[in-house]
Amino acid sequence: MERNLNLLVNLQKFDSLILEKQGIIEEIPARISEKEGPLKKAQAVLDKLKQSYESIEKKRRDKERELDDINERIKKLKARTTEIKTNKEYQTLLREIETAEKECNAIEDEILNIMEDMDNSSKQGKLEESKLRSENDKLDAYREKLKAEVTEAEKELLALREERSKIVDAVDKELYILYMSLIESGNGMAVVQAKEEVCQGCNMNIPPQLFVEIQRNEEILQCPQCRRILFYRSDS
Ligand SMILES: [Zn+2]
Repeated sequence: MERNLNLLVNLQKFDSLILEKQGIIEEIPARISEKEGPLKKAQAVLDKLKQSYESIEKKRRDKERELDDINERIKKLKARTTEIKTNKEYQTLLREIETAEKECNAIEDEILNIMEDMDNSSKQGKLEESKLRSENDKLDAYREKLKAEVTEAEKELLALREERSKIVDAVDKELYILYMSLIESGNGMAVVQAKEEVCQGCNMNIPPQLFVEIQRNEEILQCPQCRRILFYRSDS
């Protein structure tokens, strides 16, 4: 194979690998955010539970205040019994006390129910908290794994770029400029195989005479369609 063509084929090999490694690094944030879904879900459930717990707690405080008020009322009513003059007044007062005590019992029952709700909500909260912790741990482990992947890819990239620059130094300058412009226009592919009279870059047919010339691998020849540099490999 002609020296420059051989160098460009090699350069393409390195650039394809470099693109691949860069791709691995670039897609890491998306891979992480994909895994963040379950965590966000667990957090949302927990937030909702906390809100509902707080609102139940507020209800309990309100009811306890109500209870205090009624107890105060009952105390005052009971204190009035000493001032009672007639039996009728006494009966009325007793009825008032009875009503207040019933109210008091009802509120006490409500408070018991509320406490039960709080207990359930708190148990569920603990369950969700442990779920959240486990999701967090999983995500941390995943992040660590990806961080290791990035470190590895970066190490490989460094080595690849070093090798690449050696090839670049050896290629004729104007050919390298052509190569880079083809990398730009060709979606990262500047040098492709011509296989069975078809350009592997754009899949268009190569004129027979041109294909014969390409098969010799003796000069830099470009696809008439996509302009990519073509080479021939007999073993594939
Ligand atoms: Zn082509």
